Amino acid sequence: MAANSQALNFPHKKAPSLDEFLNDVAQRNPGEPEFLQAVHEVATDILPFVADKPVYRDLRILERIAEPDRVISFRVTWQEDDGTVHINRGYRVQNNNAIGPYKGGLRFHPSVNQSILKFLAYEQTFKNALTGLPMGGGKGGSDFDPKGRSDSEVMRFCQAFMSELVNHIGPDCDVPAGDIGVGAREIGFLFGQHKRLTRQFQGVLTGKGPSYGGSLMRPEATGFGTVYMMDNMLTHRNEAIAGKICVVSGSGNVATFATQKINELGGRVVTLSDSTGYIYDPDGIDNEKLQWVIDLKNNRRGRISEYAEHFGCSFFEDERPWNVPCDLAFPCATQNEINEADASHLIKNECEAISEGANMPTTPGAISALQEAGVLLAPGKAANAGGVAVSGLEMSQNSQRYAWTSQEVDDKLKDIMAGIHEQCLAYGEEKAGVNYARGANVAGFVKVADAMLAQGVI
Ligand code: NDP
Repeated sequence: MAANSQALNFPHKKAPSLDEFLNDVAQRNPGEPEFLQAVHEVATDILPFVADKPVYRDLRILERIAEPDRVISFRVTWQEDDGTVHINRGYRVQNNNAIGPYKGGLRFHPSVNQSILKFLAYEQTFKNALTGLPMGGGKGGSDFDPKGRSDSEVMRFCQAFMSELVNHIGPDCDVPAGDIGVGAREIGFLFGQHKRLTRQFQGVLTGKGPSYGGSLMRPEATGFGTVYMMDNMLTHRNEAIAGKICVVSGSGNVATFATQKINELGGRVVTLSDSTGYIYDPDGIDNEKLQWVIDLKNNRRGRISEYAEHFGCSFFEDERPWNVPCDLAFPCATQNEINEADASHLIKNECEAISEGANMPTTPGAISALQEAGVLLAPGKAANAGGVAVSGLEMSQNSQRYAWTSQEVDDKLKDIMAGIHEQCLAYGEEKAGVNYARGANVAGFVKVADAMLAQGVI
């Protein structure tokens, strides 16, 4: 009621066209292609949706979500083991907290910049809404590259990074987690420094170790959730993952746990990749081989080409795996890793469905081509929401000073992914089939928009 009466105070306005809207966002955010790409993708679905809904349109909800609440940037100075001084840039983008404290990962990778973190924080806002849990959208990180660094160098970097981030986060304000380059080791160092600076043992980061407040199943959650999403999509068509050939990219957290779950459900994963290329193992990457990969990546910190040498299969340097024939594809590495040429390989090879473990892995041209060809495509904001969902469950457990069993967390994760699938159907079912991207965009938007309307023009 409050939202409607508020809208009545505004003159009836015409919704901006997609071009007008995007030109405005482009002018305000020069040199930020990834952010514009993410805003464009959402606006394509939301502008037509709000056109006949003055309550959302006149209060400019979509425009407000496309302007982050704040972007914090800071210097991070740290020393190498030999004393060399390094200067990196740290960021936290707090996009929107209409439905809960800002929540989203930290990425440590040399490619990190403001555009990439703004796109991720923007996507996170819709993703978190889809989980049904009270979490707003944020993202952060640094252009620091942990690769090749000693544990003590990573620790000093994390301590320097947290020395500034501490001023901007808190259990009821902003709760970061991991992302590319930020795993259990980094979260531990960040948490330790936060505790030292504040003298508080708080649920201020998720992805913590189970011995100090971490949720069981958090490491597995994104990869498992991505596969649960695929399972829901196939079940909706009376099909299953069992017996399907699966192509997975990446070999980090999301890729390895997605592979584990695919194996459990009877699919066969034939590829993994990293930034140097991909391996093709037609016999399948079973759980024994997968454990070898996890040890390679987490402990020995090696390259995926070593898999090909060890298990005697092919390695394709500087290539991506999308030309390998498959029934199902799981991009689990990074943004824009499936372009139009890759999409045409997937279509030619009759790939049936894609579940995006990574954020925005598919370029706009590739999305259009895949959708036109009838390939089912679950967007990252729906398909990889399992990670942040279990982060939300970690926050609940921290608040209660309690820990659920793996089974309890996994059951809740399955329910949340089924709920996300239902929301995609509710808003994305079309004559030609389910448009999961549209369904996810509209469902996420409605939840955030209704909260913003209720809270007034702020
Ligand atoms: P990790 O750091 O554990 O693994 C990333 C993997 O992707 C590595 O194999 C890495 O290779 C590869 N990769 C990274 N950048 C590139 C690149 N530019 N080109 C080719 N390969 C690349 O990260 P995560 O598994 O955590 O994250 C993967 C994706 O999933 C990201 O898009 C992330 O935002 C998304 N995601 C992660 C969540 C989580 O809970 N961790 C939650 C939701 C989404 P290399 O080692 O050579 O760099």
